[in-house]
Amino acid sequence: MKKIILFAITALLLTSCGSKSDVVSGTKKSAWKKFNYPQINFVNKADGTNGWEVYNRIIPNPDEYIQKNILEVVQTLYWSSADSIPNIQKINYTIEDVDGISAKGGGVPEISIFYSSRWVEKSVKGGGDDKVLFETRGVLLHELTHGYQLEPQGVGNYGSNKTFWAFIEGMADAVRAHNGGFPMTNRKPGGNWMDGYQTTGFFLQWLTTKDADFLRKFNKSTLEVIPWSFDGAIKHVLGKEYSIDGLWNEYQSFLTSNKKS
Ligand SMILES: [Zn+2]
Repeated sequence: MKKIILFAITALLLTSCGSKSDVVSGTKKSAWKKFNYPQINFVNKADGTNGWEVYNRIIPNPDEYIQKNILEVVQTLYWSSADSIPNIQKINYTIEDVDGISAKGGGVPEISIFYSSRWVEKSVKGGGDDKVLFETRGVLLHELTHGYQLEPQGVGNYGSNKTFWAFIEGMADAVRAHNGGFPMTNRKPGGNWMDGYQTTGFFLQWLTTKDADFLRKFNKSTLEVIPWSFDGAIKHVLGKEYSIDGLWNEYQSFLTSNKKS
């Protein structure tokens, strides 16, 4: 019985974090009818590898698959296709027999994303086709976010400024987390909101409990808070009574008490 209840709670948590209706909350389907999908230039450079064989078998139509994930990303970051969305016209997506996982390069109007066939091989060994599908979608949501997210202004760039970097990598994992792209067991107490990736990402995703549109507003804050800062953006989006330190502490308490229950 305990097991059944635990399963039900886990299922409930998973749905509340990653359900499709949640993603589209605050936006209407009709708001996306005019969205300009980029052209997908899919190139397999890993012919003959087991990773490519697996990828090709479980994702037989990669163009359609990538477009579907693009819609999830832009719906998480924006209200409608009329918003100020980076106008990406072409995505060069390659499967490559190299180390690493995935990365995005280039900028508007043309970006490139590579995905490692060796990572697919590791995933299939670790958990079969289900694991490959889960990983591939999660990694894709992260990289596509880099293509479609807005960027902080007045604080340097990705290579020169930690705030800029933490925003970029934190938001990419926040979008991934918000769409059910991580196991929720990855969300753990500790670290700092400037650590980027999942540490920042799960925190930003949790802030949607304060405002369902938080991720959209936080993304948009880069156009309105100049020079951009985490604390400035938090105050701009949620109100002057909030601070990044205060919310981080509240989030840590939530995670710690969550763990005990
Ligand atoms: Zn990234």
